[in-house]
Amino acid sequence: MKRYAMTGGATGIGAALRKQLSAAGHEVISIDIKEGDIIADLSTQEGRDRALAEVHARAADGLDGFIACAGLPPVAPPRIIAAVNYFAAVVMAAGLRDLVGKRRGTVLLVSSNSAPMMPTAHPLVQAFLADDEAPALEIAEGEAGQTVYAGSKHALTVWMRRNVVSWAKEGVRLNAIAPGITDTPLTQQVFADEDLGDVMRDFSASVPWGKTAQPEQIANVMRFMLSDEADFVCGSVFFVDGGSDAMLRSDQF
Ligand code: NAD
Repeated sequence: MKRYAMTGGATGIGAALRKQLSAAGHEVISIDIKEGDIIADLSTQEGRDRALAEVHARAADGLDGFIACAGLPPVAPPRIIAAVNYFAAVVMAAGLRDLVGKRRGTVLLVSSNSAPMMPTAHPLVQAFLADDEAPALEIAEGEAGQTVYAGSKHALTVWMRRNVVSWAKEGVRLNAIAPGITDTPLTQQVFADEDLGDVMRDFSASVPWGKTAQPEQIANVMRFMLSDEADFVCGSVFFVDGGSDAMLRSDQF
């Protein structure tokens, strides 16, 4: 039996993963704003600090893994998207590094197939990577929700790749999964949006391998990435998107 901590386990992809891991006999400490073992608003540093303290109290002898799944859709306020999708993920991962290191475990970040749509050189992505939250949130405030969403996921993926070597020296594998459109409350919010709804519906109709994934299809791959069977998977970005990234960026990998 392994012990995992995760954020965003209340609904959608995170709930599917939490249920699969629990059904396999693993212990899961779920941190979420809605419901879970630890209730915390991870858009705030106070919420993150409290969640980190509680995970340390519950898992003093270590974690086999941490999964940063909490995230907000492009239709949420840009500052909050930035705070949750990027800063909560990296602050929680860094804050649990000691516990994951104790068990030579693994960290899995949840990116998106929208991440490659932003360049690393974009000022917002650079602001995320500069690791100073207040100015990054200011820049996010002036951008469209889709830009902040894709930018946060791009920066998260670059953060993971930049940190692979130093974490690997401590025996910890870092990876990211990049889901495509998945049938979750997040996607339902986007579909219901006046501006983005039609765009997303058109995009989902173009996905080569069907329209949308079910959360369990994403969780299946996440469970593999966390497992010992994936113990040479390190620094990888797994697109689980029905072929949409291959369709849009055929010549890049
Ligand atoms: P979801 O809305 O079902 O799940 C998001 C979870 O994050 C919920 O449990 C929610 O309560 C939690 N959360 C939100 N704000 C929080 C906060 N401030 N503090 C703590 N917890 C908070 O959506 P989902 O689609 O399952 O999304 C899970 C992850 O997958 C997100 O990071 C999302 O960006 C990513 N993703 C989703 C899709 C998709 O199409 N659904 C595609 C690519 C990536």
